[in-house]
Amino acid sequence: MKNDCLFCAIIAGEIPGARVYEDEVCYAFRDINPQAPTHILVVPKEHIASLAELDADNASVAAHILLVCARIAEQEGLDGGWRLVSNCGPDAGQTVHHLHFHILGGKRLEDRMA
Ligand code: AMP
Ligand code: ZN
Repeated sequence: MKNDCLFCAIIAGEIPGARVYEDEVCYAFRDINPQAPTHILVVPKEHIASLAELDADNASVAAHILLVCARIAEQEGLDGGWRLVSNCGPDAGQTVHHLHFHILGGKRLEDRMA
């Protein structure tokens, strides 16, 4: 756990979060400012700052999270489709520097991605 990290604090239960799923590797909770009817964040329990910090040693964490995202989307009934987004760095507008994947769905999403 990293001091002053919002998502580490949510994982530790120090700040309330609307938990959707948890296992030994990752934690999922509802985004506080949803951009779609379903907007869930999936984060590793280990503090990894962004996609840029992925390497051979933590790649299995990322693979695990992708599988969990697919299961959560199924559980949430996103049968019409869904989008997975991970903002990395300033040009992408990353605001919380703890790796997270946004699951977005429940409506027809914008065609444009950038
Ligand atoms: P990003 O801009 O990709 O770094 O995404 C950060 C996300 O965290 C935004 O969508 C915020 O709405 C969300 N967020 C910020 N604070 C909280 C919180 N306390 N609980 C849940 N989601 C949050
Ligand atoms: Zn953190």
